[in-house]
Amino acid sequence: MASVPGILFNRRVLVVHNGMDSMTAPGRATTALVQDLRDRDIEVVDAVSQGEAEAQIATHSLLQAVMVDWELAGGADHEAARQVIATVRAHTSNLPVFLLASRGSLAEIPSGVLEAVNDYVWLFEDTSDFIGGRVMAAIDRYRATLLPPMFKALAKFAGTYEYSWHTPGHAGGTAFLKHPVGRAFFEFFGEELFRSDLSISVGELGSLLDHSGPIGEAERYAARVFGADRTYFVTNGSSTSNRVILMSSVTRNQIALCDRNCHKSVEHAMTLTGAIPTYLMPSRNYLGIIGPIHPEHLEPAAIRESIAANALVKSGIDPKPVHAVITNSTYDGLCYNVERVEMLLGQSVDRLHFDEAWYGYARFNPIYAKRFAMHGDPGTSQKDRPTMFATQSTHKLLAALSQASYIHIRDGRRPINHARFNEAFMMHASTSPQYAIIASNDVAAAMMDGPSGPALTGESIREAVAFRQTLARLSAEFAAKGTWFFSAWQPDDIIDAKSGAYTPFRLADPELLACDPNAWVLHPGDSWHGFGDLEDGYCMLDPIKVSVVTPGMGRDGKLAATGIPAALLTAYLDAQGIVVEKTTDFSCLFLFSLGITRGKWGTLINALLGFHRDILANTPLAQAIPALAAAHPEHYGKTGLADLATAMFAAMKKFKTTELLSAGFGVLPTPVFSPVEAYERLVNGDIESLTLEQMAGRTVATGVVPYPPGIPLLMPGESAGEPGGPLLGYLKALEAFDAAIPGFAHDIHGVEVEDGLYRVLCVKQ
Ligand SMILES: *Cc1c(COP(=O)(O)O)cnc(C)c1O
Repeated sequence: MASVPGILFNRRVLVVHNGMDSMTAPGRATTALVQDLRDRDIEVVDAVSQGEAEAQIATHSLLQAVMVDWELAGGADHEAARQVIATVRAHTSNLPVFLLASRGSLAEIPSGVLEAVNDYVWLFEDTSDFIGGRVMAAIDRYRATLLPPMFKALAKFAGTYEYSWHTPGHAGGTAFLKHPVGRAFFEFFGEELFRSDLSISVGELGSLLDHSGPIGEAERYAARVFGADRTYFVTNGSSTSNRVILMSSVTRNQIALCDRNCHKSVEHAMTLTGAIPTYLMPSRNYLGIIGPIHPEHLEPAAIRESIAANALVKSGIDPKPVHAVITNSTYDGLCYNVERVEMLLGQSVDRLHFDEAWYGYARFNPIYAKRFAMHGDPGTSQKDRPTMFATQSTHKLLAALSQASYIHIRDGRRPINHARFNEAFMMHASTSPQYAIIASNDVAAAMMDGPSGPALTGESIREAVAFRQTLARLSAEFAAKGTWFFSAWQPDDIIDAKSGAYTPFRLADPELLACDPNAWVLHPGDSWHGFGDLEDGYCMLDPIKVSVVTPGMGRDGKLAATGIPAALLTAYLDAQGIVVEKTTDFSCLFLFSLGITRGKWGTLINALLGFHRDILANTPLAQAIPALAAAHPEHYGKTGLADLATAMFAAMKKFKTTELLSAGFGVLPTPVFSPVEAYERLVNGDIESLTLEQMAGRTVATGVVPYPPGIPLLMPGESAGEPGGPLLGYLKALEAFDAAIPGFAHDIHGVEVEDGLYRVLCVKQ
């Protein structure tokens, strides 16, 4: 039949009927039908109530048909049956739904229901054999259309069992079987991975480099789903996607505007292209969270000023920027009103590039409307708008394998046509891409297509809202008892649009929080966000990126009398198998991705409660964070968790790490060389490794990026500045903290640590 070879799952149908097995006439007819389906090897899952049916629909994602009794739970309005059908349609538009009717006629069924179902079964008029045949046919039609183009072709090819003479040389995995280590590898991953690991010489699947065949079809499918004119699949991460875009758009000594809060790959792209970066400074708040670039900095006059102030823009260099890169959303989940950014920045530059590595889902939930690069629909007249690029790490917050990434393009002013763009694409692509990664890009698009996109993203948002409200409630309960607890970085109060009344966050209507962007927008002057009088609506906090805040930092940016550094919480959670996404001085970031479950965040709440208890009890570190105590017995052998919190907080106070972080990231260093000039010196060995003391006034050869916050303190070619200046001042504070508190050394890309001293590669004088 029309099912796909290589796809192993069974045919499966959900039958929702409350009278099954009863001796009533409809009960007997349904029982006979179920028996017929089973005789056809169709697995039948049954549900006797609306609640059971909805649970099955939520958990059994491999249902291939649903049959619903119109008389379910009785009642003249057939409410239960209608709800079940609505639940199916909220998740999928094409899953076949059969309405089981035993009496009455179509004329009595409301039009909304008629539209939502695919077919009707008149239990007393048709034989169970006839009905069973129709269900089978519907299932097979569904199976044939379920899979997106490239995954379908791959599964089909892997199921054909040809002898291959092409690479990869493991030949469908058989080479591994010749050695015990190879066999262990083969058995660990399973045969399908190897059978579908193919070479570009398999013509049936098309080519990633030519964008042909099923691979090209999958790219066009993703373009439709993500709202792009063109989509390119990249199998080496958004790191590569960023480089491809810049290589296609910018050449040597041209000016590219660049969010200072950019990923390392953008710095690399600046080096590769020979561009002259002019940085746009993002804002920062009291927690050290990086905010948006303020709209004032994007006005044409401000851009002209930034370029004029850039020491690398010498005579002979065209002062008009050709490209701009903006990180959207930021790591901490702050997303721009892209329409507004386009309006502002579009006056200065014709190509806007949004790095949406953490934000691939934005198109699929109305809460993010207009806050992503591909907003609106393609194809309409875009000539007056900038050409738009987006890079998305499919693997980060959609469901895909590591390294899967998309480039989406919407042509506007100064477009780059496909032939030209593909030169840059091929320059960074392997001629042997991994087909499972390509297929996962295809699958991620299919999972977001139709109603499942809003349904899946809506679930993540609802779980994040529930977690945030739980935390806020616990916080209020502990406060009433006179003790601290964690809070989430989020609005204190929510305004009800209808009544205009303020409600504390924990008591706000969860549906409003899940659906109304206004609840998450940074309103000017609200004290919670700490970004001051930012233009209303310009920036929004993404509810699924949750920063859990530890005590110690005031909203005025001043340290409190006591506090608990977030790094300690991170270490504690790590010991319990909970891995935090990112840690700043007083906050830990948790991502509520599509993979979130209630159990997962319930465990996190328990661990936070456990930490709170262990701090109050000053539990010995040997028990609270055993690995830490074991690694530093002389320091931590007899220390308790609260003792360590106190010592860490005191060290932060003494070395002023938070204050100096602000100062360090508050200035733009002076560039001496462009990134490529600095890199040429590195390659030629024209460099030396210097301590912080020796670095004063020197030019760095590699970027210096402290994590957190993960934005470059120094880019290659920039001057480290005065000995007592903000850049070296901040690095010295981190060095001193690392020496004082073993086991909590900062992670700084570009810094080597030797005998406790930081060393950085600088250009020789
Ligand atoms: C992770 C990240 C990238 C790189 O993405 P990969 O898919 O890991 O290569 C690019 N930009 C930003 C902002 C990122 O966080």
